Amino acid sequence: MALALMALALLIGGCAESSPDYAGSPNPTYIQPLLPAGATEIPGRAEALPPTPEKDCGDPTASLRPFLDSDQAHSTPTVDAIRARGRLIVGLDTGRNLMSFLNPTTGEIEGFDVDIAREISRDLFGDPNRLELRIVMSENREKALEESTVDVVVNTMSITCDRRERVEFSTEYLQAKQRILTVKGSPIRSLADLDGKRVCVVPDTTSMERLQQIAPTANILTVPMWSDCLVVLQQRQVDAISTDDAILAGLTSQDPYLEIVGDSMGVESYGIGIPQANKDLVRFVNGTLERIRSDGTWTRIHSQWLPILGPPTAPSAVYRD
Ligand code: GLU
Repeated sequence: MALALMALALLIGGCAESSPDYAGSPNPTYIQPLLPAGATEIPGRAEALPPTPEKDCGDPTASLRPFLDSDQAHSTPTVDAIRARGRLIVGLDTGRNLMSFLNPTTGEIEGFDVDIAREISRDLFGDPNRLELRIVMSENREKALEESTVDVVVNTMSITCDRRERVEFSTEYLQAKQRILTVKGSPIRSLADLDGKRVCVVPDTTSMERLQQIAPTANILTVPMWSDCLVVLQQRQVDAISTDDAILAGLTSQDPYLEIVGDSMGVESYGIGIPQANKDLVRFVNGTLERIRSDGTWTRIHSQWLPILGPPTAPSAVYRD
C-alpha cells in the first residue's frame, strides 16, 4: 500500500514537472491532461517574422465565369467524369461546429459548408445527396486538391494569392473575419493582450500566419483541428484561440463560458477549392453559386446555420474573364 502510494506520488510529481504551466490554476493538485495528438508548441518571439513577400495576383477572389445556357459547345471533361461516377467527392473536416461537424444526434456530417456542397450535387445530379465526404485537415486541403483525391474542398478555405498558385477557387461564397475567442472574464480583450499568452491555432492556415505577423510575442500551440482548440481552451491549456469568426461562432456556441473579443484582425474570403486543371468544374460551381445567391437558397442556408454572425449578406461574384 505504502509502495503504491509512493508510486502514485512520484507519478503525479513527474507529470506536474514535465507538463507545461497550467494557465492560472488555483488548484495545486490538478493534473494537466495530455495535449491532443499532433500538438506542437511554438514559443513567441521578440519581433515579428519578416513579412512574407506579398504575392500579387490582382483580386484573388476573381474566378471564371459560369457557362451560359446558350453555349452548348463547351467541353466539360471533369463535370462529365463526376456525373459518370455518380457522386461528388468533397474534402472537409468534422471539427467546425456549424460549418462542417459530426452531429452526435444524427451521426451525419452537417453544416453550412456541407449544405453548399449539397447544392453543387443538386445541379450535377438533380439530387443534393450524391456526396462522398472525405476528411481532410486544414493542413492537407491543398495537397488533396493537387493530388486530386477530392473534386472540391468546401471547408472554410480562404482564397489567397499564394494558394491560387497551386489551386483554383470558385467565387467567394462567405466572408469571415479573424478574431479572438477566450474565456469570459479573461484579461484578454484585444490583440495587444495576447503578448506572452498561449494561443491555439491550426497549422497551415491564414489564422496562424496572421497571428505570427501581428502578435509575434504570443506563444502558439498548434493542433490538427479547430475542435481540438476548443478542448485545450476548456482545459485552460491555452488562453485563447484565434481564427475566423465563422469557426469561432461554432466553438462558442458549444460552450457558454467562452466569448469572442477584439476587433477584426483581417478579412477572410471563403472559396471552394478545385484542382487547377479542372477549369470546367470551376465554371460549373460558379454557376451553382450564382443560382443560390439569386434564388434565396444561400440566405436560407445562412439563416439555418449562421444567424449568430448577424444578418446574411452573400458576397457578390467577381470574374476575371
Ligand atoms: N479560413 C482560414 C484558412 O483558410 C483559416 C481557418 C481554416 O479554414 O482552417 O486558412
